[in-house]
Amino acid sequence: MEINELLQGVECACSRYHRCDIRYVSIGSNAIAQLKDMVTEYQRILLVADENTYFAAGEKTEKALTGKTVDKVVFSGKTVLIPNEEAIDRVMQSIDGVQLIIGIGSGVIQDLCKYVSLKSKIPYYIVATAPSMDGYASTGAAMILGGMKVTVSAGVPAAIIADTQVLKDAPMEMIQAGYGDIVGKYSALNDWRLSKIVNDEYFCQSIYDLTMDMVHKTLMLADGLLRREEESVKVLMEALVIVGIAMSFAGSSRPASGSEHHLSHFFEITGIVNNEEYFPHGIDVAYSTVVTAQLREKLLSMPWPDQQYRLSKEEYVAKINRIYGPVAEGCIALQEKVGLYEKDMLSVYKAKETQIRQVLAEMPKAEQIKQMLGAVKLDMDAFYKLYSGDKIRDAVSYAKELKDRYTVLWMYYDMFGGETDEA
Ligand SMILES: [Zn+2]
Ligand SMILES: [Zn+2]
Repeated sequence: MEINELLQGVECACSRYHRCDIRYVSIGSNAIAQLKDMVTEYQRILLVADENTYFAAGEKTEKALTGKTVDKVVFSGKTVLIPNEEAIDRVMQSIDGVQLIIGIGSGVIQDLCKYVSLKSKIPYYIVATAPSMDGYASTGAAMILGGMKVTVSAGVPAAIIADTQVLKDAPMEMIQAGYGDIVGKYSALNDWRLSKIVNDEYFCQSIYDLTMDMVHKTLMLADGLLRREEESVKVLMEALVIVGIAMSFAGSSRPASGSEHHLSHFFEITGIVNNEEYFPHGIDVAYSTVVTAQLREKLLSMPWPDQQYRLSKEEYVAKINRIYGPVAEGCIALQEKVGLYEKDMLSVYKAKETQIRQVLAEMPKAEQIKQMLGAVKLDMDAFYKLYSGDKIRDAVSYAKELKDRYTVLWMYYDMFGGETDEA
């Protein structure tokens, strides 16, 4: 289905009506020129960018806005921009009298605009500068508040403009990241099916199929992306936007974010807390998808234990404090609310073992995922070089603490305590 058809909404066989509040999506060569016709009702526009994204598309955007830009917030391009209280304040200080916010950028700029739009009730558009992640069309703003990675439920942009003349010149790492974020859907979709069986969670086959379609389309693009072909970049961007729409349809990020995203968030959060390096989001997701595929293979090949793995409360608290430091308390409090530690999951697994094994077996093998990543020159050696075995083990066992979502990380932990010799 075409993007503009999807934006009309879908009366679905799952008995829900799926909708998405984005008004315009324009993806193509010189798409920025169309902005002029999308801002006829606005006179006072604020631009938000960083030095790099402003360089990539700022002038072109301003030209298309024909003098309606009243102010600009341009963050330094030298340090990694973190979507925290400080960054929010900087944008909030410039919104007086503004009718529309236009973010120029990708992940973080978009999350910031999304958050400020929620707080200020001013609509926002996004001019994409890289096909690097699927958040363009999603309602979740990935913020770092009080040092914790939190996904704030905000609004979608009123418009997404993705000019392939700009996107094709994005850093190759960002293009690889977008491809990797899509490959990660294998894992996210598998977790969704798993949770449907284990927890009776809401599941929609149409959304599942729509997302899986985008995975298959994206896998064909690898060579074109490496050559920066506009057509391949366009199809990747469409896939990223459609996956975002799929999240709107589902009412949560479930179709697009599972165990692989939790691992990537672990590397990001512990990286920020300990001042250690981490990969761009989609690349962390890509590598983490290999790790979660390995976990599923182990669950299929190893005999399931008779007793559920649990630490004593003291051991658990000590472990979470060691791993998460300043944000440990938040993690512990979240899991108390989620309550999965209190449940006897093992008897659920035993009762539904046949179905569970079927779902786990649907996931491509780790070796296959590695090949998909190799097609855009992403190599697991880089992952093992940046992250120690201990760090990966901690992620497998305790990345789940960051979220209130059931994934294969829980199943693996319940059975084996997250201990893995793979890393
Ligand atoms: Zn549905
Ligand atoms: Zn992602």
